Amino acid sequence: MGPTANNWEKNLMAMQKACKACKAIYEGNPCPQCGANEPVESFKGKVAVVNPEQSEIATNLKIKKKGSYAIKLG
Ligand SMILES: [Zn+2]
Repeated sequence: MGPTANNWEKNLMAMQKACKACKAIYEGNPCPQCGANEPVESFKGKVAVVNPEQSEIATNLKIKKKGSYAIKLG
């Protein structure tokens, strides 16, 4: 990737960050899911959890509340 692609990616991701504690994707501070103020600006993948109790992905990621989550941080 050249510098142009990197800048584009940065602009795209500027609005959203992932919580280091619970992996929730959010804007602003603090994390609406767990209240932590540990944003990670770099994350990979995104999953929307609607029914945490019935979702295999949510169980694997230890997600208890519905919302958008990062699959991998960093
Ligand atoms: Zn959180």
